[in-house]
Amino acid sequence: MGYSKLKIPKICAHCSKPFEAKTVITRFCSRECGQKAGNAKKKNTRREVKQQELIARIPSNRPYISIAEAVLLFGISRDTIYRLVRMGKIPAINLGERLTRISRAHIETMFAPLTVVPATPEKQSGKMDYSQAECYAIGEITEKFGISPSTVSNAIRRNSIPKKQIGKFVYVPKIEIDKIFTNRK
Ligand SMILES: [Zn+2]
Repeated sequence: MGYSKLKIPKICAHCSKPFEAKTVITRFCSRECGQKAGNAKKKNTRREVKQQELIARIPSNRPYISIAEAVLLFGISRDTIYRLVRMGKIPAINLGERLTRISRAHIETMFAPLTVVPATPEKQSGKMDYSQAECYAIGEITEKFGISPSTVSNAIRRNSIPKKQIGKFVYVPKIEIDKIFTNRK
């Protein structure tokens, strides 16, 4: 029996239809699906490049930024931003309809910009196997538990909580922080 007669039941990685593959590494039901998947990947890469270009164009010394710029820079939703503005957590100025400008410094203390590339990791204690999504920035902890940044720092030191510095932001695992402060609340 030659390889050409092999029939391996698989699910197409593009259209999700079941098909019979001739080799174990076949991922798509047809040449067409393979091409479409390739195009979609290219499109994604192009979108990311475009996004980086837009981010690069936002001057870093402007104290107030637009909602759209904040979405780009910090990877958070418009809804989240508007909610924080309504709650008074982020100072905003209104230059007219659809022309809200918000304080970049305030939003930076809560969220790290997406553009920061992990620099050489500084002062790490313990091992840090957590993704950014599994971590709090210090500002998020002070917000969530209503405690001061120095209380947070002390707790991190005392409990040898692993931390990760990205740019000027320090990240610590949510799970460790929740353990310490949830009961206190
Ligand atoms: Zn397919």
